Amino acid sequence: MTRRILIFDTTLRDGEQSPGFSMNITEKITLARQLARLGVDIIEAGFPVASEGDFEAVGAIAREVKGPVIAGLARAVSADIDRCWDAVRHAARPRIHTFLATSDIHIAKKFNSTREEILRRAVEAVRHARGLTGDVEFSAEDAFRSDWDYLCRVVEAVIDAGATTVNIPDTVGYAIPSEFGELIRTIRERVPNIDRAVLAVHCHDDLGLGVANSLAAVQNGAGQVECTVNGIGERAGNASLEEIVMALKTRPALFGAVTGIHTEEITRTSRLLASITGIDVQPNKAIVGRNAFAHESGIHQDGVLKDARTYEIMTPESVGLAKAQLVLGKHSGRHAFAKRLEGLGYELSKDQIASAFARFKDLCDKKKEIFDEDLAALVEQEILAVVPEVWSLEYLATSSGTRSIPTATVVLRQGEETRQDSATGDGPVDAAYHAVDRITGVSGTLVSYQIRAVTSGKDALGEASIKVQFAGREYVARAASTDVVESSVRAYLSAINRMLAETARAAGHPPAGPPPAGF
Ligand SMILES: [Zn+2]
Repeated sequence: MTRRILIFDTTLRDGEQSPGFSMNITEKITLARQLARLGVDIIEAGFPVASEGDFEAVGAIAREVKGPVIAGLARAVSADIDRCWDAVRHAARPRIHTFLATSDIHIAKKFNSTREEILRRAVEAVRHARGLTGDVEFSAEDAFRSDWDYLCRVVEAVIDAGATTVNIPDTVGYAIPSEFGELIRTIRERVPNIDRAVLAVHCHDDLGLGVANSLAAVQNGAGQVECTVNGIGERAGNASLEEIVMALKTRPALFGAVTGIHTEEITRTSRLLASITGIDVQPNKAIVGRNAFAHESGIHQDGVLKDARTYEIMTPESVGLAKAQLVLGKHSGRHAFAKRLEGLGYELSKDQIASAFARFKDLCDKKKEIFDEDLAALVEQEILAVVPEVWSLEYLATSSGTRSIPTATVVLRQGEETRQDSATGDGPVDAAYHAVDRITGVSGTLVSYQIRAVTSGKDALGEASIKVQFAGREYVARAASTDVVESSVRAYLSAINRMLAETARAAGHPPAGPPPAGF
């Protein structure tokens, strides 16, 4: 009998709370829409009590993203649960996800409490949440290191109190697959009312075993797996969605289980997240790494050409990785352009299409062949260009060479006004950045700088990904152009605009206290 495994995505909560992966509200909605297209069953949209911004983002996702259940996280206290409900209640299918630690070390050190008191609080929290909605998940934080007999009592009690999903996290990534599978089997065997709830797992990757532990749990009866795109999350991250899904899909006879994931959306989802956060996965990352389907050695290439199955256990097409196709050119009209974007899965407004089409025409003047990857780079900038353009680039000229001092002249527009300045530097990019600093009056420190060719060929688009620090805060930005100096300057301006927008927004919201941590 084939079981259906629910995929609970926590990229926007566990993933987003890890350093370097924070997203603004528009970016979160964009990613949540793509998660819905990917077919995840549950989106954990955030931790509403953590900040005003988290609350707004969860509410917006609940209102705007159709399809999946929308969950919010809350500590096991009434005020948190009420706040969470106020954010998720707008969804067609809302879920309150509440958690409390059950390991002795957490009970003693974090709460200075007792097992009995914690059990009572867990039951009370679940009852309170059930008074608000019919879909309540309870997580026993640090479940794997908890006393198993006690954990079984907690699970039974919260199910009696109305929990519809009970989650068993390996919060610290300590488990080994055989043991974790045994814990899940033990819970299934010992908890008398276990059939009244979905049994879920949430495995961290501190020993690199998050996916292996999750799969062992599935083999032992878990019905929901919590995971993140690209495996992002606290510390070493969470079990990665794409690896779990493709393991289940590639070995159906072994697991006897399927998911509802549209696997052809995996690559696009992974790239969108990388594009938003500015952090790429390593080239050898399973499923979504740049080399995941590249056959380099001659013997392997020869085998794959004769029959792909010699070295391929899954096809690149099955994860949405098509070969770069020649798609459009100079003579393509707006209709063909819009159709192609639709085929690639992008949903853009009329204004966004118009603006993307103008940039596409500019690109056609510089580059003969436009590939899907070029379109993706172009469109992602359009989708992500959500920050109001305080400063925009009007004109850029640089000169450099082995015997000349690199010089740049930049003209920027702010509203009706244009301003011009020139500067020198170590190279043309440095010179242009100095000129931008002089015009805008802000000065950032470049923390990282990368240029990547979007496709192959000498006329390929060069995408600049940068991280800039302004007054102790880091901002990620990307831009693509056939001229790498221009993409570098556009990325820098985008970081400046982002910083200005955030500073303006922050002026309206006084900073909150330190946010509570999830598990
Ligand atoms: Zn976690």
